Amino acid sequence: ILKVNNLTKTYRSGSKELTVLNDVSFSIPEGSSFSIVGPSGSGKTTLLGLCAGLDTTDSGSVTLCGTELSSLTEDERAILRNQKVGFVFQDFQLLPTLTALENVVVPLELQGVKNADTTGRELLEKVGLGSRMDHYPNQLSGGEQQRVALARAFSNKPQILFADEPTGNLDEATGEKVTNLLFELNKQTGTTLVIVTHDMELAGMTDHMIRLKGGKLIENETTV
Ligand code: ATP
Repeated sequence: ILKVNNLTKTYRSGSKELTVLNDVSFSIPEGSSFSIVGPSGSGKTTLLGLCAGLDTTDSGSVTLCGTELSSLTEDERAILRNQKVGFVFQDFQLLPTLTALENVVVPLELQGVKNADTTGRELLEKVGLGSRMDHYPNQLSGGEQQRVALARAFSNKPQILFADEPTGNLDEATGEKVTNLLFELNKQTGTTLVIVTHDMELAGMTDHMIRLKGGKLIENETTV
């Protein structure tokens, strides 16, 4: 579902150049789970952004859901993301002025999805927040906010979900609950998971793991 070939990315500011990804290649089979680990600054978030079409490559190619991203305009990439991709972030990124339910339902309504309210309620029940639907993000714990974010991420039935440090802001026990939920949803829906993480327990649960160091892929292994 995702194929990355000889990817290189250099950031330029003024006369300075910083190559943050250097000739990275891998592929991810549909329905599987995949983790990207490595030290801080090794290029993980940059790689995730390129895979999801949020940024463009300097050289090499990314093929997402059968489409080579460089062949698309920015608008076409946005449409592909809306239709096929879900996102989860370390800092949850819920809209503070919307309730838990609205955070899931409003994006669906904006995409013209019918029965958005019913879908949102069902998803929040599924993530164990049936009694918290009308709470605002600041009335929810970190773990609960991340569960709302998971419900939102899965709401448009994405083929692939990109998660950047989904347990990064959570304590160990809460992180474990969110991790279990993520894999449960992965099994139920068949959505492919691509996770950037420092959490080795989480990485160990994925089917496959790659390790980056200084922008290079130094390890590529099947974990289970
Ligand atoms: P962390 O684990 O700390 O989040 P990471 O492995 O995700 O790190 P990236 O965020 O991909 O690493 O950053 C890789 C390098 O690229 C870092 O040195 C960072 O400072 C640099 N970098 C990231 N984004 C930009 C940008 N927009 N412009 C210039 N440099 C950038």
